[in-house]
Amino acid sequence: TTGTPDLTPPADLDPGERARALLDRHLPGGIGVHTAGVTHAGSGEPVELRDPATGALVTTWADPGAEGATVAVDSAQRGAATWGETNPFERARILRDVATAVSDHAEELAVLESATTGKPLRDTRGEAAKAAEMFAYFAGWADKITGDTVPVPGDWMTYTRKVPWGVVVAVTPWNAPLFTAAWNAAPALAAGNAVIVKPSEFTPVTSLRLAALAEDAGLPPGVLSVAPGLGGTLGAALTGDPRVGKIAFIGSVPTGRAVAGAAAAVGTPTLLELGGKSANIVFDDGDLDRAAHGAIAGIFAAAGQSCVAGSRLLVHRDVHDELIARIREGVGRLRLGDPLDPRTEIGPIVTRDQYDTVCSLIGTGTSEGADRITGHELDSHLREGPWRGGNWVMPTILDGVGRDHTLERTEVFGPVLSVGTFTDEDEAVARANGTGFGLAGAVWTADVSRAHRVAHAVDAGTFWINSYKTIHVAVPFGGVGDSGWGRSSGPGVLDEYTQTKAVWVPTVPAPPPFPSLS
Ligand code: NAD
Repeated sequence: TTGTPDLTPPADLDPGERARALLDRHLPGGIGVHTAGVTHAGSGEPVELRDPATGALVTTWADPGAEGATVAVDSAQRGAATWGETNPFERARILRDVATAVSDHAEELAVLESATTGKPLRDTRGEAAKAAEMFAYFAGWADKITGDTVPVPGDWMTYTRKVPWGVVVAVTPWNAPLFTAAWNAAPALAAGNAVIVKPSEFTPVTSLRLAALAEDAGLPPGVLSVAPGLGGTLGAALTGDPRVGKIAFIGSVPTGRAVAGAAAAVGTPTLLELGGKSANIVFDDGDLDRAAHGAIAGIFAAAGQSCVAGSRLLVHRDVHDELIARIREGVGRLRLGDPLDPRTEIGPIVTRDQYDTVCSLIGTGTSEGADRITGHELDSHLREGPWRGGNWVMPTILDGVGRDHTLERTEVFGPVLSVGTFTDEDEAVARANGTGFGLAGAVWTADVSRAHRVAHAVDAGTFWINSYKTIHVAVPFGGVGDSGWGRSSGPGVLDEYTQTKAVWVPTVPAPPPFPSLS
């Protein structure tokens, strides 16, 4: 299952050809519903996979549609029947082997991810390492999922058991396909469920490779399946299938609500991780160098295609000019370019549609009165050669965004920082809370009391003090308000992926008389 894969195509191939060569080599089964070791090609609408950095067509595959969803659920049901009964110590051992396989193939997964999503290697290497870490962490929990004994009045021994749902479907977005697949699959598998990952139709490659690696590492057939397909066909059929026990959805607010509605109609509970418009709040006593760094990393890493992006900078009026000067300087040094070059810091936008959305929202921002202070012109090396057709957006700062502007509350999901000012703490908090979203946020201040006050007052599932963007598999993550419900990661997610059963047994020789039901 291990060995060093040959990852050498970049040198001798035109960038537009690299992704195709990598796919031929690392995904010989092509793109289709992968379950129990077999990839089933679809026969529906053609779906294009394009290289975001060049615009080149990598491959075309057929949507497996509702039929593909049925194939995946049939197989996952069989997988769930055996995996749910597998001794937890054995499940832990197998998941440790999966973690090792992902770790051994981390570079291959990172290269595949970069070549097909345009995310720079420096991001995808970190994400592949984190994917391995998720399997290792939840392998550690697999044999430690316990119920309780519960004291009750009378002669009873009463205890609880944690029971898997059976089949869990994980619908994932295009911005971090491998990371989000592992994020949901690792805990759900540890809890004894079979998992079907439904990746975005734009980025199915690394999820498919992950399933093949997990099977090679010993995960039994049908326990981890991957069902790429269009959201409206295969996705809707999967999330509306009453045989599915639980759905974990990561994506946009409108799709999340549609999925939750369809799931509710067939009685399936959901875990929703949706979008955000997170605020980075900088007070006049904050460390401006560090805050500038946090603001840049917060919004421009992954070209802003991150759910926790610090897309709003709220800065105290007295330090606005100084902070913006430092951020501009840092932004000027960011390297855009080839995602497979380890020095690259910012890649293209994953899809052409999203590129159009980002450009149009920048236009909305300036037409409503914001001042575009960076990001006017594309770097010259991206205007020529193979990169000419890529979805490049320069890091853009829109200063002077007002509370009534569209950019104040609309998630751009691109490298666009909205800057607004405040004069006191109440104003900063009210503004941070003014979007309906509640995924993340941060405060930069030297005043420890204020730091905690603001951390408590801002509505968010995750909040950083004098830092931005760190997350870890051991720490709960999720949103409030429009950003979703339920918490992924951390030991608590195991409650999301199990149901609690209470068992009562009398401790006296004769059964107790029926208790009164009145
Ligand atoms: P999206 O909502 O367009 O799609 C997400 C997934 O849903 C895709 O796999 C898609 O095929 C599927 N889908 C679409 N319609 C469906 C339907 N009717 N039934 C079932 N599935 C359907 O999101 P996206 O554009 O891929 O991702 C970007 C969004 O994801 C952003 O809003 C971002 O903030 C959010 N996101 C959130 C988190 C988080 O943890 N909160 C993480 C990453 C991304």
